[in-house]
Amino acid sequence: MEISFAGKRALVTGAGKGIGRATALALARCGAKVTAVTRTQADLNTLVQECESITPVCVDLADWGSTEAAIQDVGPIDLLVNNAACANLQPFLEVTPDQFDQSFSVNVKAVLHVSQIVARGMKARGSGGSIVNVSSQASQCALRDHAVYCSTKGALDMLTKVMALELGPHQIRVNSVNPTVVMTEMGRLGWSDPEKSKTMTSRIPLGRFAEVEDVVNSILFLLSDKSNMTNGVTLPVDGGFLAC
Ligand code: NDP
Repeated sequence: MEISFAGKRALVTGAGKGIGRATALALARCGAKVTAVTRTQADLNTLVQECESITPVCVDLADWGSTEAAIQDVGPIDLLVNNAACANLQPFLEVTPDQFDQSFSVNVKAVLHVSQIVARGMKARGSGGSIVNVSSQASQCALRDHAVYCSTKGALDMLTKVMALELGPHQIRVNSVNPTVVMTEMGRLGWSDPEKSKTMTSRIPLGRFAEVEDVVNSILFLLSDKSNMTNGVTLPVDGGFLAC
């Protein structure tokens, strides 16, 4: 299936590393004009070295005011990927208010905020658009030490559905991808221990974790007009984990 984003303008958050970085590069390869948002300038420098058509924006998405200032002037956006997130893992009884607030600020509040800014522009132009939120299998299945992370992703799934409901009439589609473990920096944090990873892979019918490209391909599909009638779905990219 050939997907072209020629003439489209895309914004990807958390584009410095992992899934977000690969998504930004894939969108650029498919012809989109990409704005890459993340908080570490060094990552943006190497990203632009790798693909000089990408426009870098450095901001900490946990900061509402700085995000407003940074995103407001990026220009019209047709495709938005809300990918940035943090995973602060700790046992339920040890969760602190700071970890809770930091996680919800980035994983949920920033998604709402960036989407508001982008969707207001889409609505005003009347040109429609597509938004993909990067959620997780953790939104729908309890995982040890993931109380806050699971809660943020559960909230994100509902945010996706309400956005789909309210933005649909403006021809703005909103969907999420819900991957299983991917061995990025974040994935290694939680799943490097061979015992833990063996237990997890044994619960995935396909018997393996997802590759970054597995997730990127699903994101591209949901952004593209190949999924024109798909709105408000939470698409597992999990080898069947959530089906069992
Ligand atoms: P990585 O940790 O590899 O990359 C996350 C990116 O987001 C980094 O560039 C990071 O920047 C950026 N980021 C984080 N916080 C902020 C912030 N406050 N402001 C701006 N940028 C920020 O994660 P993944 O690629 O693995 O994860 C991408 C998405 O996929 C996330 O939503 C995650 O929850 C989801 N996911 C990941 C899974 C996995 O196993 N890896 C499984 C299921 C879902 P910096 O490094 O500078 O902090």
